[in-house]
Amino acid sequence: MAGPWSLTSLFKKITKTTNSCDEDVEQVIKHFQGLGRVYSDDDARERKLSALEGTIQVKYKGVTYNIPVSVLLQEDHPNVPPLVYVKPTSSMKIEESQHVDKNGLVYHPYLHEWNYETSSIKTLLEELCRVFAKQPPVFLLYPHTSPSLGQQQSSSSSQQPQGHVHQIKPDLPICSDFLLGKCKKGSKCSGRHCSLPFHWQYKVSEVDEWKSFCETDNEKLEELYCDVTLEERSESDSVIIWDFFSKGLMHLDEGYDVNFLLDNKVMIVQKDFDVIAQIRRLSTESHVTNPGNPVATVWTWYWKDEHEVWRQYDVDQSGRDLQRSFEEAFLNNKNCFKFRISGHDYVLKFLPPNDMLQENVGYGTTRKVRRRPAEVKSAADILELVLDRYHA
Ligand SMILES: [Zn+2]
Repeated sequence: MAGPWSLTSLFKKITKTTNSCDEDVEQVIKHFQGLGRVYSDDDARERKLSALEGTIQVKYKGVTYNIPVSVLLQEDHPNVPPLVYVKPTSSMKIEESQHVDKNGLVYHPYLHEWNYETSSIKTLLEELCRVFAKQPPVFLLYPHTSPSLGQQQSSSSSQQPQGHVHQIKPDLPICSDFLLGKCKKGSKCSGRHCSLPFHWQYKVSEVDEWKSFCETDNEKLEELYCDVTLEERSESDSVIIWDFFSKGLMHLDEGYDVNFLLDNKVMIVQKDFDVIAQIRRLSTESHVTNPGNPVATVWTWYWKDEHEVWRQYDVDQSGRDLQRSFEEAFLNNKNCFKFRISGHDYVLKFLPPNDMLQENVGYGTTRKVRRRPAEVKSAADILELVLDRYHA
């Protein structure tokens, strides 16, 4: 039977464990800034920490990925190990391995050898980052992969027959009249003649010429780019650079990895050596420049909050539409834009464009900012606009 002495020692043990557990969570939040606390929703006065959720950063082949995870603290935590799940987003799929089952449940020796006195969630996550760096637990899905693309591409030119894309002046917009089937200037038109309101290109440093991605890949890249959460994207079986292939620059097959750094506009093709190419996105004029243009590009401005969630800007304290204000300032090559929300002063810094920041003037804290197209306009959308014009 437990006497007073053993009760005291048990109490001491529990207190010690609770403290070290809090400390562990504190350390995890500090080291894994993509993770946040989740509390159980019981009606008790004191909320109980039930999980840590968010993303952990894993470096795979030189590129950093945010892997979504959930660390569930069981009833008897820390006497029993936590349950760790990989939680794929809708654009991801779980890659089953010895460490992850098809439901995303994570297995690791550290969990089996869990000891309430010496084990910690921080060490566990560090171990997982190490194994995931060798074999990522998720892979990204392509929404519309078209394997027939290769054949289509191998015939002569990748450009639309009547189209032209000038090499110079990257800021020159895609000709909206051409998209709507009413540009009469032909090859004399100073605008770019493309089949869609966006046009992705790449330039390998050894070959000083911008080349266009084929149409399917163009749309695919645009889909990636419209997803504000994506910064980097890795592709292992690549159809995406068939155009590259058809130009004979490089023979691509499934053995290559292609990484796209969407903010920095870089493409890295990895095999035995790396080929680095710049990528760029040509565009129709901004909707702010010409709101009446049906094929103008609508841009959305986002900031990343403390929970790693990308949020759209709305209005500032005086009711100004920040989406419009930012866009105007950006197009006018301003370095920054000042605004005020809920009594706080902020400044949006536009430079460098691949690393835009929002700074809280009072506290000096910064948040990442992205400007991405609001939606993908498909070839079908454009066709519909052209037909509408004829029927009008
Ligand atoms: Zn034109």
